[in-house]
Amino acid sequence: MQDSELYGRILGITAPWRVARVELQLKQGEVHVYLAHEDKQEWPCPECGASCAVYDRQAERQWRHLDTCQYRTIVHAQPPRSQCREHGVRVVKLSWAESNSRFTALMEGLAIAWLKHASQKAVAEQLHLSWDEVHGIMERAVERGLARRQAEEIPQLGVDEKAFRKGHKYLTLVNDLRRNRVLYVAEGREQSSLDGFWGTITEAQRDSIEAVAMDMWDPYVDSVREHVREADKKIVFDKFHIAQHLGEAVDRVRRREHKELKAEGDERLTGTKYDWLRNPASMDGEQRREFASLRQSELKTARAWALKETGMALYNYVYEKPARKHFQWWYNWAVRSRLEAMKEKARMLKRRFENIITYLRHQITNAASESLNAKIQWVKYTARGFRNKQNFIHAIYFHCGGLDLAPSPTK
Ligand SMILES: [Zn+2]
Repeated sequence: MQDSELYGRILGITAPWRVARVELQLKQGEVHVYLAHEDKQEWPCPECGASCAVYDRQAERQWRHLDTCQYRTIVHAQPPRSQCREHGVRVVKLSWAESNSRFTALMEGLAIAWLKHASQKAVAEQLHLSWDEVHGIMERAVERGLARRQAEEIPQLGVDEKAFRKGHKYLTLVNDLRRNRVLYVAEGREQSSLDGFWGTITEAQRDSIEAVAMDMWDPYVDSVREHVREADKKIVFDKFHIAQHLGEAVDRVRRREHKELKAEGDERLTGTKYDWLRNPASMDGEQRREFASLRQSELKTARAWALKETGMALYNYVYEKPARKHFQWWYNWAVRSRLEAMKEKARMLKRRFENIITYLRHQITNAASESLNAKIQWVKYTARGFRNKQNFIHAIYFHCGGLDLAPSPTK
């Protein structure tokens, strides 16, 4: 078998293209494969497929291919440009690469497959790609995937904020809770961060939204109110966010009381911080017995804890009417508790109540997508080498967007 025939098969080159020659550059460890095509007067337009006259040929271009026998393999060709009456002058479709890529589709496909399981740094090293090349492959894959996305119904949305790096940089993520994927990522957590999402979905998709889970965060509330019909019936403040608020209040009560007790030599609250935040169901027998005597004591912290647990019992209700009654009773207890931290949270929950009680109807939380969160954590973890936020955003779409990323000639 001739070199050219062998490489034609390896590359999957078919008529009208053929391998014209193969050059082995031993010193550099490279194989250069030169492609040529039949002398055709007409080529199909890449857009509509109509047979069109040749306009000209591009200057010679290069595509990095998968290594062959550890040789860096580079494909060379001069693609013709067709002139379509409707679509004008265009580079013809190539079977080995997408029109704007400097890699063959197989090379790009391999890099994408690796990127799904390894960090960008590892893939860059293993495939001898530069950072920019890896980013470019990732970015194109995401663009392709987003363009291929269908306008499916999204009955349950989750709007979530994620801290980017330590400190105060945030991203806003919009998740499709049913399909467990990220639909949209934007910088910041302003109203404008979420506002950008609505234009990326169709009117019908917007109408398909039945419920939106989110933290009690006004900029998000405002954006949903402006863009979703009957938003007030659909917004559901995240259950875990509410539990977190009440947990914070219990902790504030504990810290203060612990200080007072310690001043009198009473160490009962020493080392109990996490016991008050944990679910007693997750404690072993011994721990539970110890904790039981604490929480049944006359301590303020025990009262705050009971308030928190009773408040969260709201979520056990099936029907709205008794749930409202429960909350009203709980609220009255909380505001008379003489525990400032609990009073403060109770007032906040009352103010927000209409979008807390919506949980009973929709039963959604942002934590529904545990596996998605795990993936985002992984992206964050492998993001340490990221040079900019844009790259991080692409990585979230890449790993969590549920996108079809493969380059099209391989499909
Ligand atoms: Zn055309």
